Amino acid sequence: MIWCVLNGELMPLSEARISPMDRGFLFGDGVYEVLACINGRMRAPALHRKRLLESLSAIRLSVDVDQIFADMMRVLKRSSLTNAKIYLQITRGASDVRSHTFPKEVKPTCFITAMPFEFTKLEPAKAIVREDIRWRKNKIKSISLLANVLLLQEAKEAEAEEVILFREGQVTEASTSNVFLLTGGALTTPSLCDDVLPGITRYLVLEIARNQGLPIVERSVKVEELAIADTLFVSSSTRGLLPIVELNPGGPVGAGVPTVEFYALQDAYNLSLYQNHLDD
Ligand code: PLP
Repeated sequence: MIWCVLNGELMPLSEARISPMDRGFLFGDGVYEVLACINGRMRAPALHRKRLLESLSAIRLSVDVDQIFADMMRVLKRSSLTNAKIYLQITRGASDVRSHTFPKEVKPTCFITAMPFEFTKLEPAKAIVREDIRWRKNKIKSISLLANVLLLQEAKEAEAEEVILFREGQVTEASTSNVFLLTGGALTTPSLCDDVLPGITRYLVLEIARNQGLPIVERSVKVEELAIADTLFVSSSTRGLLPIVELNPGGPVGAGVPTVEFYALQDAYNLSLYQNHLDD
């Protein structure tokens, strides 16, 4: 059975009900988080907490984040899942009056689910490369994901796993992950800005690379650089490090296979998932 917590109440997912006047439904007025839980422990909760607070502050919404993290543990324990993905959605709530502006005295809606999750090493994949048609504040983890939905559907229809996005010729990120290039033994990733979500996995990959002594460059990346990288990969909490070996348009990346440096980074990341320092 899938369990959830809706506004502080633990219940089977099949019993959860939300008003059609909820501003998440009407306006996409909310933010979300996704956390991986490995062996019953949340991965990097402090980093997720910080990003959640930043997203909430950016949309001027105030909720009790300590309570939310306690509710996440409740749903995780009730689900009896060793490994899980926790999805947290917070909206500005439901009001009887449909108006774009913030209603007065409305209680936010907070919905948490735990889904089964197996962390497996993924096969090298294909990505399509498309113009970034999303809004200009992608550093906020907004629930308004229509552009991502349309782009990822296009990828699926092209038998690709991801969509690498660019704006004015510069790579921003991918539709559900951050982008990295390994070239000549150095690790490059687009700098953080309004157009890029500060991925928790991105942060951890950079930390691991630093510990391995890899040179790290955070800068703007031209879309033409993607195909000439030795290895191109994307990162996210649910997929870890996924190598991209073919682009459309763009053709094969580098020699068409991920390098030894990539696998060393991927192995170190996968190992780090089981280490306690991520609990901080
Ligand atoms: N960028 C986008 C647009 C995403 O949707 C995600 C994950 O959902 C990421 C990056 C990666 O973030 P994280 O590593 O925190 O999962």
